[in-house]
This record gives sequence, C-alpha cells and structure tokens, in this order.
Amino acid sequence: MGTQEIMVRTFFIETHGCQMNEHDSEKVGSLLRHRGLIPVPAVDQADLYLLNTCSVREKAARKVYSRLGRLRRRKRNDPGFLIGVLGCVAQQEGAELAKKAPFVDFVVGTHRYHELPDVLDDLEAESPSRGQRRSTRVATSFLDEPTPVEMKVPDREGAFRAAVTVMEGCNKRCAFCIVPQTRGRERNRPSSLILDEVRRVAAAGAVEVQLLGQTVNSYRDPSRPGYGFAQLLADVAAVPGLKRIRFTSPHPRHFSDDVIAVIAGNSNICDQVHLPLQSGSNRILRRMRRQHDADWYRALIEKFRRCGRDIALSTDMIVGFPGESDADFEETILLVKFARYEQMFSFKYSPRPGTEAFPWDDDVPDLEKTQRLTMLQRLQREIQLEIHCDKYLGHVVEILVEGTARDGQRLFGRTKSNKIVNFFGVEEPGEFTQVRIVEAGPNSLLGEALVDCRLADAV
Ligand code: SF4
Repeated sequence: MGTQEIMVRTFFIETHGCQMNEHDSEKVGSLLRHRGLIPVPAVDQADLYLLNTCSVREKAARKVYSRLGRLRRRKRNDPGFLIGVLGCVAQQEGAELAKKAPFVDFVVGTHRYHELPDVLDDLEAESPSRGQRRSTRVATSFLDEPTPVEMKVPDREGAFRAAVTVMEGCNKRCAFCIVPQTRGRERNRPSSLILDEVRRVAAAGAVEVQLLGQTVNSYRDPSRPGYGFAQLLADVAAVPGLKRIRFTSPHPRHFSDDVIAVIAGNSNICDQVHLPLQSGSNRILRRMRRQHDADWYRALIEKFRRCGRDIALSTDMIVGFPGESDADFEETILLVKFARYEQMFSFKYSPRPGTEAFPWDDDVPDLEKTQRLTMLQRLQREIQLEIHCDKYLGHVVEILVEGTARDGQRLFGRTKSNKIVNFFGVEEPGEFTQVRIVEAGPNSLLGEALVDCRLADAV
C-alpha cells in the first residue's frame, strides 16, 4: 500500500461562539495565508478544515461532534485531508476529544495557535499510507507567560471595522462559567502594541474598532504600572480617523469612575455599554460568585445615567441557576424594570462540565426555567418596544452601513448605540448615513434615508 503525500494548499475555518473566537479565526487565517495556504469558501474545496469551537453552552459543544462526524467519511477515503479542532472544546477536552474523534489530525488549545504552522509541517512530513491511522496531536497545555503570544494580525486593508485583542483569559471564578478553564488566567498585551495595531487599522481605513478581552475592562498594561483600561480607552479614542470605539466583554466590577469619565468625555466611544448582570438576587449573585450585589449594580447604572450621555445598556441573564427560587427570580424582574436595558441575552441555566456549579443539584425543573425565561423575555420585549418608540421613532440617527439586509432588498446598518436599522439606500458597507426611524418593533427598527447626496448631485 503506497503512501499518499500530504500537501496542504487550501483551508477552510468554521467558527462557533463569541467575537473572541471570530477574531482568533481571523488571526489563524492570517497565519495560514502567510504559510502560503489559500482560503476557500467551502469545506469540500479545502485540504485543511479547522473547527474553532465554543463550549459556553451545551448545544454548542454538542455541535462539535456532529460537525466532525459529517467529515469522517471524506477523511477515510482521503487521508491527505486534514482536520484540526481549535477553541474552547479543544482546550477543555484535549486528549478526550482525540479519543472520541480519533480521525481528527490535531487538537490545538487557545494558548497554542501560533504553533499551527509547525503542526502542519510535521503532518506533511509524515505522509501516511491509505488506511493507516496516525494518532491525533494534542497541544492544549497553557503557556505560563504574562502576555499572550503575539500573532500576526490579518491584513485588513479596506475593512471598515477591526477587532483588536486587548487581553485574554479571566481571573474570576463565576460558578457557571467555563471560560477560566478554556482561556486560562488573564494575560494583557502591552498598550504600545495595542495602540500600534489600532493606529495601523485606522490608517488602513477602519472607522470602527472593537477592543476585545474576556474581562476587557480589567485591562492592566504589564509594562506600564498604573496604566489601566481608562487610559487605554482614552488613548484609543484619540487615534485619528476612528469614529466608533466599542469594547467587549466587560465586567461590571471594573467600571471604575475614571472609565465612566472617559466614556462620558469621548463621543467616538459608542454610547452603548454591556453590563452583564446574570441575576438580580443577591443570594444567587453570591452563589454565582459574581463579585457585585444588586444595590451596587443599581448604583453603577445611576452613574451611567448621570454621566452626561444617553448610554444604551445591554446585559446577559441566566434563569434557573441552582437554588433560584420564585422570590430570587422576582428580584431579577425588579432589576430589569429598573435597568431598562436596550438589549438582553438571556438563557436557561445548563450545567457545564468543569465549572464549579456542575456538581450542584440542578434543582429548578426545566419547565420552570422555560416559564421564567419566557416571562423575562416578554418583559424585555415590552421594554425594548417602549425604548424604540420613545428614543428612536421619528428621530434621525446616524448609521454605519454594514451590508444588505435579510430581505435582500434593504440595507442594514447600526446606530452608535448598537441598534440594527434596515432601510432602502445606495450606500456601500463602511459608509455613514442619516436615516429617520419610521417604524419600530420590539426587535427591529426601520429607517428612511433622508437625502442621498450622491443621487441629488447626479440630478
Ligand atoms: S467574568 Fe465570570 S462570566 Fe465572565 S469570563 Fe470570567 S468567569 Fe466567565
């Protein structure tokens, strides 16, 4: 039986999960392009398939094996086709994943993406015989360095929006969350490198920058004592050409007064702030180890309300955490009524292996969780509709155009407060335009272009 030479020329990356994963895939793609590989739009055209995985929710983690299972037959017939798994499931399961899906060629964890070119070199050098199975390579141990390994960021010439990593990992221990296990402890990039990257993307045409980190506002420059997130945000806001600055995902605890003052004082920092609450009950917040209580959180909202800008708040919420009673849930409802979020991401609790809460009695029946979630989401829809009618309907808003809407006819774009607006227009992605909001639903806004200057000029 002859050997089949492995020559990896093309790649396809499938990404699940958050913006951090999206950005990691961007960086991995850039690394592979620098090695001479060409990205292709579909897995069946690729010599190398990378699955960048998410394990935050059970459903996402389960999807990994069904995605891999579908490629098994191709792998059997074509040993030169390589399959690699990256991301949080790779990090968490490592060798276990290699056992469950032995046809996978490599599993690379969240600290080790820079090693991918070496992994590919080794695999190409091996060239297995047809039918021969080699063992899966597993590289998932955390690196012990205080800063993340710098990876070449993609060439983003012409992109109107760019993500820039500020920090990785998390030093908190929220009882429901797997992130500290999948991303490791906090590692901050030096501000000089962050600012160089921001200046580069702005010079290349980006008008919006999104600063990324698992607890982005806990940022501390490892090379400049005393330089924290407030300073970084102020320095990013001063970069010429940037019209919109966003950051995700913050922790309420790290919104110090100086961070709020920088947001208040710089109109190019978006007037939208994510304040993940998870529960409005102090008892549950303590069990969750969230490091804030409901009164402290209310006071934080008041600070944003008094800061001089109309800040749109958004949040994350979990219902049915172990031990959550009707009274605890009622506290959540009260806090939601107080906060009046413009957006909410809400979920039923599901135990995730590896978290502190995993062995706890998941004692809220599923039906009860569903009812609480339905009640919470109904309330949130009512609040959103009220806000959409009061704050947006009839008003003119500035939109950064992103592309064609789902109906294939309109365009869609985002307000600075992160509201998606659909409208008829002729603008290109990356252009700003003014639209009047003419229709408002709980989840959508419809706009009408004011005047299209280019058409007016042409007449
Ligand atoms: S702060 Fe809590 S929820 Fe956020 S990433 Fe860290 S452990 Fe997870």
